[in-house]
Amino acid sequence: MYVSAIRTLVSTVCMQRINTLPDENLAAEVLPPLLAVVSALAAMSIGILLIVQWHASASPYLLSLALIGCVCVSGFLLQRGRLRPAGIITSYTLALLPILSIIPFGVANNTLIFLSVTGVIAAGVLISPDAPLVVACYAIGELMILLIFPGLVGQAPADLSVILSVGMSMAVLLLGTAAITWAAGYAVHGTIRWALETSGKAARREHQLRATQTDLERILRERDQLNDRLYKTTLDLETAHAEAEAAYRSKASFMSTMSHELRTPLNIIIGFSSAMIDHPEMYEGEPISEFITADIAEIRRSGQHLLSLINDILDLARIEAGRLELNKVALPLVPLLDEIMRTAVGLLRDRPVILRREYPNSLPSVLADSVRVRQVLLNLVSNACKFTSLGEIAVGARVENHDVILWVRDTGIGIAGSDQIRVFNEFEQVESHDAKQHTGTGLGLSICRWLVELHGGRMWVESELGKGSVFSFTLPHVQSALSGEYEISAKGMKNDEGVAG
Ligand code: ADP
Repeated sequence: MYVSAIRTLVSTVCMQRINTLPDENLAAEVLPPLLAVVSALAAMSIGILLIVQWHASASPYLLSLALIGCVCVSGFLLQRGRLRPAGIITSYTLALLPILSIIPFGVANNTLIFLSVTGVIAAGVLISPDAPLVVACYAIGELMILLIFPGLVGQAPADLSVILSVGMSMAVLLLGTAAITWAAGYAVHGTIRWALETSGKAARREHQLRATQTDLERILRERDQLNDRLYKTTLDLETAHAEAEAAYRSKASFMSTMSHELRTPLNIIIGFSSAMIDHPEMYEGEPISEFITADIAEIRRSGQHLLSLINDILDLARIEAGRLELNKVALPLVPLLDEIMRTAVGLLRDRPVILRREYPNSLPSVLADSVRVRQVLLNLVSNACKFTSLGEIAVGARVENHDVILWVRDTGIGIAGSDQIRVFNEFEQVESHDAKQHTGTGLGLSICRWLVELHGGRMWVESELGKGSVFSFTLPHVQSALSGEYEISAKGMKNDEGVAG
């Protein structure tokens, strides 16, 4: 029971101190030389005892040996890196053991007891700034017990004056030393903590700098690799560009050769077949039979189809190569639309289709290439005529903001919603029964859209299967013509005219 009570007391005191130990660095610095000095002094005291008091009692030897034992235990713990317990044992040994010198030497004239001050000072360095007060209290308590009950250690009671003077002076000395150590300890530990924190921060910053330096080196390496890759890619691109240029030049020369080589014989075929059909008297008055005339007409039709296909392909090639040059001028629209209407009348011939005019007598001029705008309108009108056998076809135009919108409307076969985007693709023809009956290249609308976009406009279709279609496109009108002509064109819009086809 006593043992466990003492253990609890010791562990409470020790652990409380251990939890508030000062930094280990200071203890690690101080403890080894302190232990060395103490062990040397203990050994020296044994030597002196052997010389001076050879035949005296065993207790002085035991005290010196106890001191050496405690030093050894502390040294052992220090070697194991257990600084805190080592510091506690050293401090308490130095504080309590000198007071036990009362056992062999008594109280009067015993100067050894004053050495317990070293334990109080050591506690401030090795345990914590608060520890000196605790250690001093233990030492004073021990001293009081030995002074008041000397019989416990086999000593005769001392004079009251001696007890009082020794007790008082020791208490003042120990508590005074503890107070000074306590105050100095806080200052020293504060400084050490600050120094440690500063050096810790510096170490962390150095670590970060090293990491940043490593990152920078890595980034530089990566940059060099990227530069190499970029250089190679640039070389590849230059090679590819040169190859593309060469390919483009050979394509352009192939196109112009093909254009010349194919168009010349085709024109001859179309020219001679037209002459044979239209002027048979040129052939020595010999009549040409109806069968032969029909075949020649087929030759002419196929020739014309082939010629338009070649022209379309050439146009497309030029557009895709960015080599189609537009001759943009301020183009008056009304005369051009009138001309398209006349062509439509010819295309419809005797078909029961009404041709409707949906543009005013006055429209602002557009900034456009007349040949190309005519090409677009003709394509739309000829498609409308191709796919409309009953009802009406309308050609219209109106001003909207900075654009003129032009359209060709028909009541023909119409286009299903899903096919309305496809018809603008190259070589795209809608697979309907009616559409298949008509010849075509599938390039017309694609070229039209390209041409409109080259003018800065856009083209679209609204259609319903079986009900008809409206193909519309915009062209930017000439800004200077805008102010005077917009009013007139808005008025003219109401003035639709029907023309029998
Ligand atoms: P194509 O020379 O074959 O007419 P286009 O590009 O001009 O080539 O037209 C593509 C397809 O769009 C046509 O084959 C036809 O199926 C459809 N299409 C064009 N215009 C009309 C229209 N007015 N009505 C119905 N279908 C049309």
